Amino acid sequence: MNHNKKYFRAVDKLQALEQAWMEKIAKDPDFRALQRLRQKTQDMLTNCPHEETTVKNQYREGSYLDRASTETWTECVLCRRVLSEHIETHDWYG
Ligand SMILES: [Zn+2]
Repeated sequence: MNHNKKYFRAVDKLQALEQAWMEKIAKDPDFRALQRLRQKTQDMLTNCPHEETTVKNQYREGSYLDRASTETWTECVLCRRVLSEHIETHDWYG
């Protein structure tokens, strides 16, 4: 129990230090510029036109009670969003 409390305090102290650092660098112009850059990238990914896609699939072995299946999905190469998915259930069991 005592050991756990020590651990808790150690993590708590690290988090307080981390918070203090975050507050310090939040005022830095370079850090603010980096944040704006990240936001712009994030906005572009949010509005991604999904120009390049790839088709992926994963086979799932069934079990004694479940049939095997193959999941196929189309994913955007840039933002990784899944645009469509299809699960084909096979005739056999695992
Ligand atoms: Zn996309």
